[in-house]
Amino acid sequence: MSAPNKDFSVAIVGGGLVGALNAVYFAARGWNVTVFELREDIRTLKQAGGRSINLALSKRGISALDGADAGAGLFETLIPMSGRMIHIGGKQSSQNYGYFGEAINSVDRKLVNEHLLNKLQKMPNVTIKFLHELLSIDYEKKILNFKKSDGTVYKAQADLIIGADGSYSRVRRELMRVTRMNFSQEYIEHGYVELNMPPSEKGEYQMDPGHLHIWPRQTFMMIALPNIDKSFTMTLFMPWKNFDAIKTPQDLLGFFEDKFADSIPLIGRELLVKDYFKNPKGSLVSIKCKPYHYKSSCLIIGDAAHAMVPFYGQGMNCGFEDCLVLDEILTKHIGKPGTASSTKPTAEALGKAFEEYSATRNADAEAMCDLAMYNYVEMRSSVTKLSYKLKKSFEGF
Ligand code: FAD
Repeated sequence: MSAPNKDFSVAIVGGGLVGALNAVYFAARGWNVTVFELREDIRTLKQAGGRSINLALSKRGISALDGADAGAGLFETLIPMSGRMIHIGGKQSSQNYGYFGEAINSVDRKLVNEHLLNKLQKMPNVTIKFLHELLSIDYEKKILNFKKSDGTVYKAQADLIIGADGSYSRVRRELMRVTRMNFSQEYIEHGYVELNMPPSEKGEYQMDPGHLHIWPRQTFMMIALPNIDKSFTMTLFMPWKNFDAIKTPQDLLGFFEDKFADSIPLIGRELLVKDYFKNPKGSLVSIKCKPYHYKSSCLIIGDAAHAMVPFYGQGMNCGFEDCLVLDEILTKHIGKPGTASSTKPTAEALGKAFEEYSATRNADAEAMCDLAMYNYVEMRSSVTKLSYKLKKSFEGF
C-alpha cells in the first residue's frame, strides 16, 4: 500500500481528457496528486483504438484550458471551423456559425491527452500510474483497490478521490452505495463508425478545412472534421438496423452510392470498405445523475457525471468546464491556490464546496445532455430546411 501523503493527497481515477486537466488544476493547489489510469500510456500508442480521432473544441473548453494555463502548445494545432458545409445532391452550401467569424475548432483527441499528460509529468507533485484498474473504494477508510496489469491488487489511500473514469464509471458505481444518487441512462437507437478521407495526391485537403462537413439524410447523417495532416475524419451515425443491413462490401458501396455519392471519390472505394469493416461500431449513451459527491471524500466529473450523445460537440468541453467551475467553487470555499487554507483544506470547507458544486453544476450539465440529444435532429434533418431557407433569402437579393 502506498504511504499516505503527509500533505493533502488526491487520487484521480481516469487519466483521459478530463481527469488529466483536473489533475493540472489540483496540482497547482500544491496537492499531492496521483492519477490512476486503466490503459497504458497513450503517448506510447500509435492511435487510441476505437475512440473518436478528432473533436470539436469550443470556447467553453478553451476557457477551461486557459484557466489552468494549459493551452500553450495545443492551441497552435487547432483548425478553426467557422461554419457547417451541407452536402446535398452533390452540391455544398455553407452555413456560418456566427456573423463575426465565430468558430469551433477541430483538434486531435490523442494530442490533447498527450499534451495534458506531458504537462502533468513536469509537475513535481504529480504521479501517473498507468495500467491500474479501479475495482472498489472503501469511502470510510478512503482506500482504493486497483488491479494491476499483472493481476496483482494495489491499494492506495487518499484524502480526496476524484472519479474521471468516463461513462461506465466505477467510482460512480461505488458512490451509489453510499449516497442517495438519482441515476438515469438512455441508449439511443443509433451507433457510429469512423472513416477516413486521406489528403489529395498533392498532399492537400480534399474539402474546405474551414468547415464542419455534414451529409444530412433525415434519419441518419455523416460528418467530417479536418485533421492537421490534411486528412478528414468522418463519422457515420445511423440506426443500428442500417448497420445490420450492410453485410458485404457490395452492400456498403451500394449504400454510399445512393446516399453519399460525392464522398466516394474523396475517400476511395478500397479505403472506405477497409475502414468500415475494420473500425469498431460505437454505441451512444446519455447519462444523468445527482449528487456528484460524497461528503468531502469523493466527487465525479466529466462523462462519469454526465455522458452525453456527441451531436452538440460538448462532452469534452463540458467536462473541461467542470474543472474550471470546480476550481472557482474551491477558491470561494478554501481560498486561492498558494494560500495555507487551500493547500491543506479542512474537511468541512471541502464538503461545503462539493455540496455547492453538486447543487449548481447539475442543472447546467443536464441541460447540455438535453441540447446534445436535440442537436442530432438539427444536424441530420433541420439543417436541410435552414439551408433551403437561406438559399431562398439569398435568391431574394
Ligand atoms: P473518457 O475520455 O472516457 O476518459 C476516461 C478515462 O478513465 C479513460 O482513459 C479510461 O481508460 C479511464 N478508466 C475507465 N475506467 C477506469 C477504471 N476502472 N480504473 C482506472 N481508469 C479507468 N466532445 C466534445 O467536446 N467535442 C466533440 O466534438 C466530441 N465528439 C465526440 C464524438 C464521438 C463519436 C464521441 C463518442 C464522443 C465525442 N465527444 C466530444 C465526447 C468526448 O469524447 C467525451 O465527453 C470525453 O472523452 C469525456 O472525457 P472523460 O475524461 O470524462 O472520459
